[in-house]
Amino acid sequence: MEKLGLNEIRKRFLDFFESKGHYAGKSFSLVPKDDNSLLLINAGMAPMKKFFTGAETPPKERMVTCQKCIRTGDIDNVGKTSRHATFFEMLGNFSFGDYFKEASLKWGWEFLTEVLEIPEDKLWASVYLDDDEAYDIWVKTIGIPEDRIVRLGKDENFWEIGTGPCGPCSEIHFDRGPEYYCENEDCKPGDEGDRIIEIWNHVFTQFNKTEDGEYIPLANPNIDTGMGLERVACVMQDVDSIFDVDTFKVIREEVTNISKKTYGASEKDDISIRIITDHIRAVSFMIGDGVMPGNSGRDYVLRRLLRRAARHGKLLGIEKSFLHLLVDKVVEVSGEHYPELIEKQEYIKKIVSIEEEKFQETIDQGMDLLDEFIAQMIEAKEKELEGKIAFKLYDTYGFPFDLTKEILEEKDLLVDEIGFNEAMTKQKERARAARDAGGKVSWEDDSSEILKNIAQTQFLGYDFNESESKIIALMKDGLVDSLAEGEEGVLILNQTPFYAESGGQTADIGRITSDDFLFEVSNVTTEHGRFLHFGTVKNGLINKGDHAMAKIDTHIRKKTAQNHTATHLLHQALKMVLGDHVKQAGSLVNSENLRFDFSHYEGLTYKELEAVEKIINDQILNALPVEVINTSIEEAKKLGATALFGEKYGNNVRVIKAGDFSMELCGGTHLSNTAEVGLFRIVSETAIASGVRRIVAVTSTGVLELLKSAEAKINEISDLVKSNPNDVVHKVELLKNDMKVLENENDNLKRSLAKTNLDEVINESKFEINGFNTIIAELDQVDSETLRELGDNLMNEYEDMFILLASNMDSKVTFLAKAHESLVKKGIHCGNIVREVAKITGGGGGGRPNMAQAGGKDTSKTHEAIKKAKEIIASL
Ligand code: ATP
Ligand code: MG
Repeated sequence: MEKLGLNEIRKRFLDFFESKGHYAGKSFSLVPKDDNSLLLINAGMAPMKKFFTGAETPPKERMVTCQKCIRTGDIDNVGKTSRHATFFEMLGNFSFGDYFKEASLKWGWEFLTEVLEIPEDKLWASVYLDDDEAYDIWVKTIGIPEDRIVRLGKDENFWEIGTGPCGPCSEIHFDRGPEYYCENEDCKPGDEGDRIIEIWNHVFTQFNKTEDGEYIPLANPNIDTGMGLERVACVMQDVDSIFDVDTFKVIREEVTNISKKTYGASEKDDISIRIITDHIRAVSFMIGDGVMPGNSGRDYVLRRLLRRAARHGKLLGIEKSFLHLLVDKVVEVSGEHYPELIEKQEYIKKIVSIEEEKFQETIDQGMDLLDEFIAQMIEAKEKELEGKIAFKLYDTYGFPFDLTKEILEEKDLLVDEIGFNEAMTKQKERARAARDAGGKVSWEDDSSEILKNIAQTQFLGYDFNESESKIIALMKDGLVDSLAEGEEGVLILNQTPFYAESGGQTADIGRITSDDFLFEVSNVTTEHGRFLHFGTVKNGLINKGDHAMAKIDTHIRKKTAQNHTATHLLHQALKMVLGDHVKQAGSLVNSENLRFDFSHYEGLTYKELEAVEKIINDQILNALPVEVINTSIEEAKKLGATALFGEKYGNNVRVIKAGDFSMELCGGTHLSNTAEVGLFRIVSETAIASGVRRIVAVTSTGVLELLKSAEAKINEISDLVKSNPNDVVHKVELLKNDMKVLENENDNLKRSLAKTNLDEVINESKFEINGFNTIIAELDQVDSETLRELGDNLMNEYEDMFILLASNMDSKVTFLAKAHESLVKKGIHCGNIVREVAKITGGGGGGRPNMAQAGGKDTSKTHEAIKKAKEIIASL
């Protein structure tokens, strides 16, 4: 047999089944569509479930695909066995109630022995214990010797998952010869070892398993087959492992080039080389299908694969990031069949680079830490790493849990998974609590200890934009006495005009300066009453005790205040339009925009959004004074101020009052008049959790920018359709009309193409039965006029022929039968045949001996009707 390349095998498979009337579909995306039961597509049939269940109609009742698959469950096998990859391609032919066991097995055999030219004596078959039907097809119809077929049990040869469609399967196996290990001398399918490997599984879904465990035969049994492309290539190329297959080798050799290693020199290195080779394929295809590295679900699968590959690069001694270079090789070998890889090549490389670099930054520190712990464990003769430490590695150093586990396993050590999960849950709770408290995150674990001896900061920012301040503490990884030019650090002042992030409002930015230095403030937080000014020393040297001017960026403060005051107006407007159930669930206000989360059970209608916007803009135009009232909590409640549910307030509170329109407890910085908001515009309204909606909006110059970008978009559209903003609507209408004309033309072309396909179907349906020449065919979507025309043409083309054409169209079947006089003389009666056949599909009709027509209602029975016609002729 010829050593065919992997890409060639794929092509031959698709072509072969196309020639057998199959629709050759593109691979479905790795990301399942409308199917939450699966993280990633793991078999050819997985994305076709909807066709098997009847939820959707397949493009044709016979299909063939080469499907991209990922099986994360196999990750531990990768690199260690010769036949597992996380990403692989599955070839498969499918019948949705069309052909069944005989055709599937016959074509399977034909493909392997005639198209791939695999010698028959290298192949084995297995069937399910009591599946005599499949057994007989193998032995009697295909003619393989009985000693090349085995009957295997449920584990091997029966396919089912829980309840639903299921059935026996029949597998084709390949014998790689006595040079490969097998547990028994007369090696058979099912034996342990590498000698006989399963290459193709044909699943006959013929039952529906009920809740009670009963197997009810399906009216229209299906065929679902799966053959691993990489494994067939391995067999065809007569190589030991899928990692020696031509396309894998190209990637593998790039890994050895970069690492300057020789493949085959050390088993440990080989495993790393194979893991990288495999993972980069999976990674490239996943990103190509739109997955992004992240911390949950399939995003986490991607991150884990990427980081695992990066780490094995380290093990091979590769210093720099290298994975993006391998992407080129994946595209080189697979891009022709998967054009999405070529299209997104640069994008994939970019995502891989970013993720790899992110990991590189911390992996060394993390590894040092882990090595230290491992050494300690070995010394103390401990076997299990604390979950807390595994979590720290995950949280601080980006080590996926499995990576830590794998590194430990290499040293015969374990890790406490339960402890890890507990630490993870605790972290999530902490994060939630921190978010609820307004996003306060401590900058170091033991900051309260450090801050204990430092005086609290007095906040002057409600009344002043600048202040003379004394620097009472300096920090950089703990307390320091000075900060030099270029250094990043934290200043604590005795008093400050800087607003620290709280209540959803982001901090001020600005400068702290003296004759000796300039410190640029990028963020401010508070802890235990101390204001921490984060930033960088732009020039000079700062010493503890220095006096300086602290000055906020008033422009940014003003823009933030515009958004904050607008947030209060929005809160009130929502209550007015939607009802009193509206409660603030969170908010974020900065100089760019505002975000407001609130309780409401459904999306806002266009009308409601418009009403909210109008109310707010009216209040802006009304130029309401914004007052600040400092009072007691009781007094504030009496006044009717809105307080946030679940928020703790001290005894003295600050109330922000905008005219008589809104009154809210708030510690933020605001405008003095609503008119300063300028303008208000909602940018988006979305759901963020069940019962919680989010509005994002902009104010003042933000609205102008929105207008400008809308205008730019209209200009761009105008340019694209070669028009101008005034005429663009008309122009688009014209284009739409043109499109309709083209669509019609396209439909006509498709129809004439379909006619050509028809000829093919007719050709394949020509048989001699019982001495009669017949054409008996089931057609799809052929209208009755075309059907008659077709009948006439066939009658002209042949001299003694019986034809029966059945066409399924819009859930009806039309039958047409015709016969030449010579056949009528020999006993054919079109009217009688059609009447009987149509009955099966729930219809009726009839006609003359030489010509008849009928209709039916149940297109799912057409297949059976066709069979019946053949039987009638056979028994004449
Ligand atoms: P195995 O026992 O070897 O893991 P399987 O029983 O899981 O195989 P199926 O679920 O029947 O395999 O999948 C159909 C075909 O897909 C297999 O015959 C094989 O050729 C291929 N295949 C399955 N898993 C992998 C994998 N991890 N890597 C490459 N090919 C695979
Ligand atoms: Mg498996």
